[in-house]
Amino acid sequence: MSPTTPVVAIYPGSFDPITRGHEDIARRTLRVADEVIIAVAHSPSTDKRNLFTPDERVQLINEVFADDDRVRAESFGGLLVDFARDRQAIFVIRGLRAISDFEYELQMAQMNHELWPEIETLFLVPEVDYSFLSSSLVREVASLGGDVSRFVSPPVLAALKEKFDG
Ligand code: ADP
Repeated sequence: MSPTTPVVAIYPGSFDPITRGHEDIARRTLRVADEVIIAVAHSPSTDKRNLFTPDERVQLINEVFADDDRVRAESFGGLLVDFARDRQAIFVIRGLRAISDFEYELQMAQMNHELWPEIETLFLVPEVDYSFLSSSLVREVASLGGDVSRFVSPPVLAALKEKFDG
């Protein structure tokens, strides 16, 4: 790799919707990468269970990072390693909130490395304030009319209000 080749990192997940915890991880990634692609995973089986469509999730992420052109969102189906290779990414980023995340994350990192040895998974830890935060909790609280304004950025808050208040 030449010294001018930008370092690209892929941050995959469902992001249904993106929370401030995800945002924190994406910003931390910029300390080791020049570009972060937030990759919204979709498949026919999981899409039905999600609140936002893959396109809506991509759009929300792009709105949240509108002021930073080093971060962008794309959706992908199929194998993460194929998507990463296609985008010439060298890192896969995952956030670790608690030890309960660890076992599954370790298996996935090892499998991805088996599938494509050029890729390295980096685990980043969020600000402690976000360590309990998940998209599913945000969806649940918002669906019950709770205030989630501390946990998501304004475009996401507006989109949640629209989904639940109509
Ligand atoms: P969620 O568990 O919120 O539905 P995703 O599938 O969208 O999450 O998660 C994508 C990645 O972001 C995973 O590596 C997950 O561990 C990480 N992540 C999710 N929420 C947070 C958070 N609050 N802090 C740090 N990492 C997080």
